[in-house]
Amino acid sequence: MSTPSKLYEGKAKIVYATENLQEYLTYFKDDATAFNALKKGTIMGKGEINCTISSALLNYLGSKGIKTHFLAQKSEREMLVKAVQIIPLEVVVRNIAAGSLCKQTTLLEGQKLPFPLVEFYLKNDDLGDPLLTVDRLNIMNIATVEQINQLKDNALKINQYLIEFFGSCDITLVDFKLEFGLDFEGNLLLADEISPDTCRLWDNLEQDIEKRVLDKDRFRRDLGKVESAYQQVQKRVLTQIEKLKNT
Ligand code: 5GP
Repeated sequence: MSTPSKLYEGKAKIVYATENLQEYLTYFKDDATAFNALKKGTIMGKGEINCTISSALLNYLGSKGIKTHFLAQKSEREMLVKAVQIIPLEVVVRNIAAGSLCKQTTLLEGQKLPFPLVEFYLKNDDLGDPLLTVDRLNIMNIATVEQINQLKDNALKINQYLIEFFGSCDITLVDFKLEFGLDFEGNLLLADEISPDTCRLWDNLEQDIEKRVLDKDRFRRDLGKVESAYQQVQKRVLTQIEKLKNT
């Protein structure tokens, strides 16, 4: 078999072409970065965990009618996906104030938001992924007004499904980042991954504000026990998926 050709290497994943023009193979790495790659490290086993969690969650969202790029988990670290052209936006949904929202506003960490906040950030490392306004989005021609509305509607629906799903795992979904892409026919698909790298997840069974963190903030904030937090999320997600299969 010929060596697969690498199309793109990001901070956490590598995307390969396949024999089928309409499908890509994504490989999940253990590399971890934070603060626009100023902080670099390795989270042992992260690739396998994130590939497995993402596959389970994308498949679950698919079963709820959300259009995603997920086709199959091919191995512990490999996911077969529909080929899409990624829209260079990070669509962030927040239910509870944390992270950059607290740095940039007077909201305090842990404050429940009165409604889910959907934000668009430009996916551009050189500019530090700046927060965009709808008018800036329009002027930059990144997405049409219709696509922006579609992105927001999708993000809110996904939020509701994920809040419910993680809730049944005794996990609070604080916030998360989504990426979307357009397939060959121009359909908008949820792409990328949904994992402890891209979500803030707090353990409902733990009161301590540091111990409850089950996501990449453990790496960002040097809280330790990063691997075991990721393993805990994987265990609870897979247990819940199994439960759903049997109901
Ligand atoms: P914040 O804007 O507070 O830093 O991030 C909000 C949410 O989006 C968090 O769950 C965070 O993990 C996710 N997020 C934002 N930007 C990125 C990014 O560039 N990479 C990853 N993996 N997650 C991000």
